[in-house]
Order: sequence, then C-alpha cells, then structure tokens
Amino acid sequence: EQAEWKLLKNADTQSADGRHVDIAANIGTPDDLDGVIDNGGEAIGLFRSEFLYMNSAELPTEDEQFEAYKKVVEGMDGHQVVIRTMDIGGDKHLPYLPLPEEMNPFLGYRAIRISLDRQEIFRTQLRALLRASKFGKLAIMFPMIATVDEFKEARKIYDEERSKLIDAGQSVADNIEVGMMMEIPAAVLIADKLAKYADFFSIGTNDLIQYSFAADRGNEHVSYLYQPYNPSLLRLIKQVIDSAHKEGKWAGMCGEMAGDQIAVPILLGMGLDEFSMSASSILQTRSLIKRLDTNELNSLVDSALDAETNEEVIELVHQLNL
Ligand code: PEP
Ligand code: MG
Repeated sequence: EQAEWKLLKNADTQSADGRHVDIAANIGTPDDLDGVIDNGGEAIGLFRSEFLYMNSAELPTEDEQFEAYKKVVEGMDGHQVVIRTMDIGGDKHLPYLPLPEEMNPFLGYRAIRISLDRQEIFRTQLRALLRASKFGKLAIMFPMIATVDEFKEARKIYDEERSKLIDAGQSVADNIEVGMMMEIPAAVLIADKLAKYADFFSIGTNDLIQYSFAADRGNEHVSYLYQPYNPSLLRLIKQVIDSAHKEGKWAGMCGEMAGDQIAVPILLGMGLDEFSMSASSILQTRSLIKRLDTNELNSLVDSALDAETNEEVIELVHQLNL
C-alpha cells in the first residue's frame, strides 16, 4: 500500500469517474512545508497562524508575520495557501495577552471575537497578509464566524487595510479570496446568506462537532458524543456545501474529518471541493478518492442523511467494501 501511495505523490486527485478535488494540508508553521511537499499536498487549506503568536514572547510584528506568510506562499509556488487569522482563546493562550478568566472559554472570548475587539492586532495581521499576497496565491479566512454581521465587519476592516496599503503605494494581489471557517451551527444555518459575502467556506469539524453536540472536544467523559458520521452533523455539512455552490463559491473542510477514510466517500458524494488534512493523510486519501465513482456515491449520501445513528452510517460505508 505504502508503495502505491508514493506513486501518487505528483498525481492529480481525481475520482474514478474523473472528478477533480483538491487535497490540501493543514500546517502550523512555515517549517511544516517540507512535509506537505513530500506528501504531494496540492495546496495549504489551513495555516493556523496563531502558532506564530504562541511561539513568540510578545505580539509578532507586522514584518515578522509578513516574512512567515511570504515563506509559505512562495514555498507553495503558486498553489493556494489559505491563512486563517489568529484563533487564540478557547484552549490556546498567549502569556503576553492576558484574557479574562472565563467559565466557558470555548464559548467565550476567542478568535474573530478578539480580532474585532482588539483591532490593532487584527489590522497588523491583515497588513502582513496583504503584503505577502503578491508572492503567490494567498487566501484569508476568519475563524469562529457566528453571524453575517461579524463576517461583514471583518471584511470591512480587511477592505480598509487593503485600500490604505494601495494608497501608500504598496502592491497587493488583486485576486485574494476572503472566506470563513464554518464551525458554529448558527453560521451553518444561515450559510445561504453568508455565501453572498464570503468567497469560500472551510468547514472546521473539530469545533462544529463540539458545538453541535454541546460536548467539549477535550473532555474524555463526553467523548462518546464526538460523532462525525451522525446524520445530524452530515446534514449540517451538506447545507454548507449546497449553500456555497448555489452562490458559485467553493466549500472545503479543514477539520480532522476531511482526512477520515470513513467520511471521505460521503464528503466526496456531497460535492466537497477541497479536503484539507495533516500531511501524513494526503496520499492515503488520494488513493481512496481514485477508487471512488461519484455517481455511485449519491445513494450512499442519501442513505447516510436518512440514517438514525453514527454507527449506521459507518456500516453503510463498510458495505461499499473499499
Ligand atoms: C476545526 O475547528 O475543525 C479547525 C480546523 O480548527 P481548530 O482545530 O484549529 O480549532
Ligand atoms: Mg476550530
């Protein structure tokens, strides 16, 4: 198997009936790039920029961030790099940025909520991203968007920084896509509206599962509720993909589920456009997709959406004998 996977390193990701999807990688630092290239990643679907902040003794400067983003964008040589703006809070803390003590940090002050509140931090990051954009194909996404207003506000700030840079004579790419993570059920339910403003969606199943089942993703006592194949979650995912496509936008996934071999046939059948995963899962997933015929997956998707439990869906996929 390993030998077969190696042959796929430079192959296009295509289903048996010729449908192309992108297999992208999730990274935390520019040093992760080698692993992505070694494993044949076609793009970066999630650069968790908060690691720049966490690996630093103070807020990283605009120039420090610019260098890191430029390195990744250049390293991917024209392939898309989706950089997520800072997702601090929840379980991720910065010693130099004291956050309030909270009863429920995962339901509290985190990610875009901090960025919209502490705008100087957000604007610095956006300027670094904009300046790096001309070195390749950079896209920006906002984490933890819950409402249309939040997305519009974040995008407005982005547009302001972009105009200021251009007025100051800096060159920035003119084709930067600005999208959002889909990881809060309220956002999924209003995805048709969000799709009018966002250039793309990337489904963050790690958080979407925790918020949908109201079960802390790190709490072992409720880990039985981590049910990625539960039809409830599958219906949310389908809604995101369909809403994006109706507006001519693309939908990807950057949660762990995107590289899950049980989930991939269902996600491909639903029309997911981009699968972003840890580098070590890429070749195995490309091999699986090559063996799948999307026409034959329609009935799998219908049955999975109509099932009652997580286990029933696992059984449906097993019956395909992949
Ligand atoms: C997610 O929530 O699925 C995700 C990709 O983001 P993170 O794991 O960084 O919260
Ligand atoms: Mg998340």
